[in-house]
Amino acid sequence: MSDSVIEAVIDNLRKRDDKPRTFAVVTYGCQMSARDGETIARLLTACGLVKTDRAGAEFILFNTCCVRDNAERRALGNILRAVHEKRSRPEMMIAVCGCMAQESGGGAARTFPGADIVFGTHNIQRLPEYLLRALDERQPVTDIWEQAAGVEDIAEDVGGANEHGHKAFVIAMRGCDNMCSYCIVPYVRGREHSRPMDEIQRECETLLAGGVKEITLLGQNVNSYGAGMKGGATFASLLRAVASLGVPRVRFMTSHPKDLSDELIDTMAAVPAVCNHIHLPAQSGSDRILALMNRRHTHARYLERVAKLREAVQDVGITTDLIVGFPGETDEDFEDTLALVEEARFDAAYTFVYSPRTGTPAATLPDRIPEDVSRERIARLIAAQEARTASVFAGLIGSEHVVLVDEAARRGSGYVSGKVERGMSVTLPGGEDMIGRFVPVKITSAGHNTLRGTPSDDRVTASP
Ligand code: SAH
Ligand code: SF4
Repeated sequence: MSDSVIEAVIDNLRKRDDKPRTFAVVTYGCQMSARDGETIARLLTACGLVKTDRAGAEFILFNTCCVRDNAERRALGNILRAVHEKRSRPEMMIAVCGCMAQESGGGAARTFPGADIVFGTHNIQRLPEYLLRALDERQPVTDIWEQAAGVEDIAEDVGGANEHGHKAFVIAMRGCDNMCSYCIVPYVRGREHSRPMDEIQRECETLLAGGVKEITLLGQNVNSYGAGMKGGATFASLLRAVASLGVPRVRFMTSHPKDLSDELIDTMAAVPAVCNHIHLPAQSGSDRILALMNRRHTHARYLERVAKLREAVQDVGITTDLIVGFPGETDEDFEDTLALVEEARFDAAYTFVYSPRTGTPAATLPDRIPEDVSRERIARLIAAQEARTASVFAGLIGSEHVVLVDEAARRGSGYVSGKVERGMSVTLPGGEDMIGRFVPVKITSAGHNTLRGTPSDDRVTASP
């Protein structure tokens, strides 16, 4: 849809007095979903609605995730509760969007009875039009697209900073062509599609001019950026281009081990603005399971990439995702995953029990793993990683780092928290005036998930 049509709809909505006045977006899932939630909020704000908390909102949007069963169940439960609440609050409107809505496709209206608007992942920009239609027609509006209508849909999706104005997500590419056998993402996010580099740069320049200090480049498989694009752009060249604008910190996620090039490792090492952190999902340590997962990397190749990263990038932090209980996973396969955790020395790992997703190849595989076996495996895996994280944290005590302060640790507590370049959270004494500032910190102790520190001196700066 062209900008002018959107503008006309927004203008029309602004003038109405029967529209909801307040809204809340409830987001589930990954960073891309969070970024979509920001787009939704921006569109509704442009329509004259005011963002508020979930309890007080007249228009509630459930921006859902379908990557695992438990994410779906949580969202469904909350949607049902909202539909129930609506019976006693007739002014309330409900929208369901994101990956669950996309996946439900033609059956969306049946899947979410009681919702006023249902739309998918490819047509977020149309939300003002759907809101207008739902108000005019007084009946539910459902629209799910199979694919984005064209590149312009991504081009329109220019973002903004977080609520404090110092961090921003920028979409480098959308979709995924990898077809990992367990994963629903390629079916709900579409084919892989990189944004032109000059467009990304323009968006970053605007953010930078607005005071943003940290940009995270997003993509399901961000390090394959440029594949299929004319001109030979690579993800490493994109990182360099963004850093060259003067962005103090650049992060990126998520990276696939099979696409982790030497050029990217060298760029991480050579460009100071690029953070020394990489999220590199391994999924399993067993070559047999990795092949069944269609991951196209092996245990040895993964460790070789990790070794190269550690050799080139000073103090690099590596985090990962791991799945247990994939169909056919034997005790031996699982031991290979435990071994990988020891060998790769992850800073942190997100661990998941395999969840069959209808329509994916793995959902039809034999030898499902009983739930009690998966539960026991994940408990052992979590314990192994916790021990690793504790030893990484212990090694950091006494060292100096620069923290970009994100928020008050707890309102009025006299503490703030933020992240070091390597990605860990640090809590330190300070007030809200420090939010968005770079603070040199000495790490003094370690808790379960966070580090604690004190400002090493009174240098609180606007750049690292
Ligand atoms: N594009 C990213 C994120 C994919 S979804 C990536 O490739 O890493 C985030 C994580 O959810 C995946 O890394 C995987 O560990 C997990 N996941 C995806 N599908 C799953 C499933 N069916 N069951 C359990 N975990 C799953
Ligand atoms: Fe899913 Fe694999 Fe694509 Fe990640 S790389 S989104 S796990 S298919």
